[in-house]
Amino acid sequence: MFNAKAYSAASATSPLASTKITRRDPTENDVQIEILFCGVCHSDLHQVRNEWSGFMPTVYPCVPGHEIVGRVTKIGSAVSKFKVGDLAAVGCMVDSDGTCPECKAGLEQFCQHGTLTYNFPDKHLGGVTYGGYSEGIVVDQRFVLRVPQNLNLAGAAPLLCAGITTYSPMRHWGVTKGKKVGVVGLGGLGHMGVKFAHALGAHVVVFTTSPGKKDDAMRLGADEVVISKNANEMQGHAGSFDFILDAVSANHDIGAYINLLRRDGNITLVGAPEKPLAIAAFALIMGRRSLSGSPIGGIAETQEMLDFCGKHNITADVEVIPIQKINEAYERLLKSDVKYRFSIDMASLK
Ligand code: NAP
Ligand code: ZN
Repeated sequence: MFNAKAYSAASATSPLASTKITRRDPTENDVQIEILFCGVCHSDLHQVRNEWSGFMPTVYPCVPGHEIVGRVTKIGSAVSKFKVGDLAAVGCMVDSDGTCPECKAGLEQFCQHGTLTYNFPDKHLGGVTYGGYSEGIVVDQRFVLRVPQNLNLAGAAPLLCAGITTYSPMRHWGVTKGKKVGVVGLGGLGHMGVKFAHALGAHVVVFTTSPGKKDDAMRLGADEVVISKNANEMQGHAGSFDFILDAVSANHDIGAYINLLRRDGNITLVGAPEKPLAIAAFALIMGRRSLSGSPIGGIAETQEMLDFCGKHNITADVEVIPIQKINEAYERLLKSDVKYRFSIDMASLK
């Protein structure tokens, strides 16, 4: 075991603060990574503040972070996928049973015995797993991804959650040229959704509550931008969407978006607000519309997404921050004041 500097929260109401955590020495299949950048996901904030207490209660101290890129510093004897010095990335999962039908299908995100990167029982050390707000991490090679060499690392980190979480449902629901696609909420996930929908050739409409983000939305790849508080603008798109990705972090009127779907259209929730959303049955019944959710993506698809980003030169638009600014960054997330992902420069932890 070895010590690593990290930032943790001691309770749902305490700010994140500097600490030391223990990491395991790499076992034969493990890769040890020096973390260079870690993206700041709104899920980190939900988890740190125990907003998902009914589903995933937070165990303190909590070290969040699941958008990790870094460099391999050590490998176990059986590691074939990486060598010391390679770039490497880790997302929201660090383990799964590898034997269930979901794992065999490459859909590890649905494994019933999986381990998330933080706040999950740690099979090796006991306690819970600690995430990427840390100088280093040790992960089984099966859950370590390759980072295309041409990508900016600060901007690549958010691909590991915001990227795959938006890419996967778009692939699943057949977003392609000729489809009309909506993206609700221009935050970390939403802005990646816009980039992917645009790269996949769809006609992209962004729904935002922030009029100040209009120009950015167009620059990111939107064809149209709707200020969602404007009922007339919303009505203009009634019954017209093939697919809508809802990436909003707080309570909102999802019914307003269901009404914008055409027959057999789908709206997928990736945003995970603290409280239940109200849904009118007839909005779904009339038009045979569907509402789904989607969690991140499997390892193979995450690699596919990273390679897609390498090919199309796609990264997140990031504001790089030192770890000391993390509490301020959380407050800004709550004000929708992020353009469009905070990425922590881990050198600031040294
Ligand atoms: P974020 O960067 O904070 O963006 C959220 C955006 O939602 C804001 O920028 C804002 O966009 C909009 N918004 C915020 N409050 C709103 C309100 N009261 N009404 C309407 N719109 C509002 O968050 P994120 O990191 O992208 O995460 C978004 C959500 O996805 C979070 O709940 C997170 O936990 C969840 N998530 C899920 C998965 C998954 O696997 N399904 C993975 C990662 C994250 P505008 O300013 O454009 O309105
Ligand atoms: Zn995330």
